[in-house]
Amino acid sequence: MIAGMYNTIIINIDELWLKGKNRPFYFKTLKKNIKAVLKAVGRKNISVYIENHRFVLNAEQPFSEENIIALSNIPGTNSVIPAARIGKDYKNVFSAVAKEIENTDLTNVETFRIFTRRVDKHFTIKSMDVSKEIGAMVIDKFPDLKAKMVKPDLQIEIRILKDFIYISSRKITAPGGLPVGTNGHLITMLSGGIDSPVASYLMSKRGCKQTFMFFYAYPMVGEEVKEKIEKLTSILGRYQCWSRLYIIKFGDFQKKLSKLCKEDYRTVLFRKYMMECGSILAKKVDAQALLTGDSLGQVSSQTLTNISEIDHFTDLTIFRPLVGLNKIEIIQIAKNIGTYKISVIPFDDACSMLAPRHPVLRSERQYLENFFEENDLNNDMRELVETAEIYDVDPAGVLTEVI
Ligand code: ATP
Ligand code: MG
Repeated sequence: MIAGMYNTIIINIDELWLKGKNRPFYFKTLKKNIKAVLKAVGRKNISVYIENHRFVLNAEQPFSEENIIALSNIPGTNSVIPAARIGKDYKNVFSAVAKEIENTDLTNVETFRIFTRRVDKHFTIKSMDVSKEIGAMVIDKFPDLKAKMVKPDLQIEIRILKDFIYISSRKITAPGGLPVGTNGHLITMLSGGIDSPVASYLMSKRGCKQTFMFFYAYPMVGEEVKEKIEKLTSILGRYQCWSRLYIIKFGDFQKKLSKLCKEDYRTVLFRKYMMECGSILAKKVDAQALLTGDSLGQVSSQTLTNISEIDHFTDLTIFRPLVGLNKIEIIQIAKNIGTYKISVIPFDDACSMLAPRHPVLRSERQYLENFFEENDLNNDMRELVETAEIYDVDPAGVLTEVI
């Protein structure tokens, strides 16, 4: 049916069946996240209730296509189904199905199928019988349509739940996984590249709330880099509930560090101090782990030795969900979630000015130990976090600076 005509949306839930005793907590969190999205897209007075383990949203004003898309970004949900809702009276089913067909653009539709799910087993007519009978009536009324059981052009679904019957012809796939807020809080190290936004999305799907952190090499790179990060955060924020972006003005510190260390070690040490700032921010906002877009062997700072050395000198757990993915696999996810076209805008996110000519591939523990012994930069780290620019990110992806 045409978007903008549905007053009801069914939201199917993903992995919640795994959760046994914790189920009420998962439902509660998901409901809160759904309501936050509705509020962020400006929808008020919408009833959100649970019917046979699905969320059903019902509104007086129809849901727009934007509303439907916003709802289909919520982790923990499996799919979003715009539907017509009728009472549990079998004789009204056909007219609702006919209306659904009449409101569908049939330009490329020759074949159809009726698919019935009788979740409420007290309903006396069996699924197969409903599908057959309603299917026959459709053929009578719409002689141009032919029934086809495998891969039809149009599938009309009839869901018989506890309180109502729902008619639908469209199902939008959602991210699945777990609701954000059920699995801890991460500091997401977000660069302007392809990888870290994908890492963020993957952990949103695992239910992790995130605070985004960008190290801005200002004044060595320009404002456009910051804008790029804001755009990426706006997309990633839609897979969160409410989150925040911290922009750390890192350029002067990078210059200072570059003078203190061997040139070859700059990249590894930049990374190490980013982790250090991340740990300070984690304490401040009560996060339990850091998240990066590292993929093993992709660049010099991501050799096994360098990753291990960075971990050795950092207290917090670091999540690297892309560690075993190939670049092409990461790109595919980036395209699916909509970050790819922003990530490839060719601005220098780090600063090539300070990049070593021969970055070290196997950092020596002894050199790093001596360096940390001789250089206490803790106050610099704290100062960097204290002076960060902070933005609230709402579930519709709108950023507002926190003053
Ligand atoms: P990406 O595509 O995410 O930029 P990359 O392949 O360019 O990754 P690196 O530049 O080595 O790899 O960065 C590895 C990880 O370190 C990034 O995925 C990100 O999590 C973190 N990181 C790098 N630069 C920054 C930055 N300026 N601000 C925040 N995090 C960063
Ligand atoms: Mg990068």
